[in-house]
Amino acid sequence: MFFNFYIFKLVIFMAFSNVTEMAFKDLFGGDLSKFPLIDISTLPGWAQLLIFFVATDFIQWFTHVMLHRFDWLWQFHKVHHSVEEMGFAAHLRYHWMENVFYTPMKYIAVMLIGGFTPEQAYIVFYIAIAIGHLNHANIHLTYGPLKYILNNPVMHLWHHAYHLPEGKQHGINFGISLSIWDYMFRTNAIPKDDGEIELGFPGLKSFPKTFGSQLFYGFRKEK
Ligand SMILES: [Zn+2]
Ligand SMILES: [Zn+2]
Repeated sequence: MFFNFYIFKLVIFMAFSNVTEMAFKDLFGGDLSKFPLIDISTLPGWAQLLIFFVATDFIQWFTHVMLHRFDWLWQFHKVHHSVEEMGFAAHLRYHWMENVFYTPMKYIAVMLIGGFTPEQAYIVFYIAIAIGHLNHANIHLTYGPLKYILNNPVMHLWHHAYHLPEGKQHGINFGISLSIWDYMFRTNAIPKDDGEIELGFPGLKSFPKTFGSQLFYGFRKEK
């Protein structure tokens, strides 16, 4: 938590926002306001927050699909999938390289939709963290019919399943806060609902266990 959430995220976000801002200033002659596709600054505050929340959630869903789809990205994402027993702290276990993929993607969303304030970004960021903790909690919660919109602990438990349904070897239930993207793109699945499922991935037994070895995992070809 200390390394990923506080130290590393801040460093990456600041470095990336500086570099991107400079690049866009060069491209658009110093006028960043030309870039956004839509400007939501005239909408009511709650609508701005909602749009920001949904847009960044979709971007993260897409990034998460890519982490499963491409083998070199999956090597980093395996750190998150190395949890064998679900619990809210599982949300905090991930490779620092994930920040490198997620943060620029979110930053692009912020730039495409103009009119956000840093305060809004922080509110949405902390709401998403709270939802993420809940989705990794080892509890049986699906929200009934709202499960088609909201990601939930049961759905995300299956995201971590060792044995994936046939034809879904690249993964299921990629949703972060919302589940709607998985239902839209047919990447949803809850094969059974009794909570007794094995978590992980093939080869987990030999996966590095220490902080240091997980820190550098994914940079060299594994045997
Ligand atoms: Zn995943
Ligand atoms: Zn997870």
